[in-house]
This record gives sequence, C-alpha cells and structure tokens, in this order.
Amino acid sequence: MRLLVLSDVHANATALAAALSACRGQWDQSVCLGDLVGYGPDPNEVVEQVRGLVAAIIRGNHDKAACGLGDLEDFNPVARSVVEWTRQQLRPENLRYLAELPAGPLQVDGVTLVHGAFHDEDEYVFVPEQAIDGFLVAPGAVTLFGHTHMQGGFLCRDSEPEIIPLRVPGAESHFTVLALESGLRYLLNPGSIGQPRDGDARAAFAILDSDQKVVQFWRVPYDVGVVQERMRRAQLPEPLALRLATGH
Ligand code: ZN
Repeated sequence: MRLLVLSDVHANATALAAALSACRGQWDQSVCLGDLVGYGPDPNEVVEQVRGLVAAIIRGNHDKAACGLGDLEDFNPVARSVVEWTRQQLRPENLRYLAELPAGPLQVDGVTLVHGAFHDEDEYVFVPEQAIDGFLVAPGAVTLFGHTHMQGGFLCRDSEPEIIPLRVPGAESHFTVLALESGLRYLLNPGSIGQPRDGDARAAFAILDSDQKVVQFWRVPYDVGVVQERMRRAQLPEPLALRLATGH
C-alpha cells in the first residue's frame, strides 16, 4: 500500500495542486497530519480539497486556532493576525470540519499520525533529543509527524535517535528514497506543502510504501508568485508572502 502523506498545507492551494498533480497515480490512500489553514490565502479551497482526498486526518495547531479552540499564546503577532483573517474567510461548513478534526495520535494501517509530538500536538520535534520521547511511546515502527515544516525526521538505532540524512531531490526525479530497515524505528516528517521552512521553497510531501518498505520524500516546484499575489490582495502580512520564495 502506498500512502500519500500530506502535512502543513497552510491554505496554499497552488502548492497543493502542484504536489497532487506531480504524484498522480502513484499512491493508493492519503493521510494528512494537520494544519490545513493558517498563513496562506486559500483556506476554503484547501479544506474542501483535502477533505475529499484523505482517508484519515488529524488537526494541527492552526486548525484549532482558526476555529477558536485552544489559545493563541504560542502564536506570534503575524501568525495571529492570519488566524483572525482565516476565521472570517472560512465558510461555516469548513469551520465545522476543522473544529471536528480529531487530535493525534491516530493509528492508520500500522502507522501512527501525530501533528507535533506524541504527548503534545503543539510541541515541536526539531532535534534527536526531542525525538526520544516519541520513540519511547510509539506503538509501531513508523510514526508520521509534521509541525516543524522540515522534511526528513529521525530514526532510532540501539535506543539512540539520529537525524535521517536526506539527499535533496533533483529537479527531474522529484523525490529522494529512504529504505526502511527492519528493526529500526522511524519518526518521519513529510515536510510542508504550503510553507516549507527547510531552505527549499518547493512543496514537500512523502509517499510511504509499506510493501516495498521505502519512503519517497518529494519536492515539487510551484508558482510562488501567484500565491504571493493572492496574499497581497488579501492584505496578509508581507513577511509571510516573502518567506514562501525562500523556504525559510
Ligand atoms: Zn504548520
């Protein structure tokens, strides 16, 4: 079974469309690790597209914030202003959909989905020391997480978490492949579709092939300029438009 793993789409319908078109026909089922909205200009389009696409989905901190669940303490002023804007934009049925999204961890076909960390969906897992807790409680060999917008993740060999060394996929191949070794445990991050922060501005996602025991980490270019234009028209904060071009 080939599982398409989407995360942190962040209301970027152009990046989502480019990603889906690049991998058309190459997956059987899809899941989403949360943060459909926030930052980007297309909250309704993204919610409607993803809800028709995924077999399973959990919420992210921006989904919660957009429908008034949880507090905005962790949001900086720029992110907070987009939360308000997003809430005003969302059609009632889309707001309701976001409000009813379950929190992770969620088990799907032998893998576990979390947005941030296992014990706290809002917590970031950036370094191996932060991954230890996840490896201790993960019920299976593979956990999928998002929230950091950094593609890759961690593996655990002999109780020692380490960063997965990822080659950057080239322009032609679109993805780089990681072979999953039996006996090892993995916390895999597909990266962010709509707002990558690992220095590569291309949309990021992953396809996990449970039969072949491989993960493809994809990078797909999209027209950043048209998204920036929509953001400016909506008067969203300029720094958010600019960061899309650099992937930081
Ligand atoms: Zn996010």
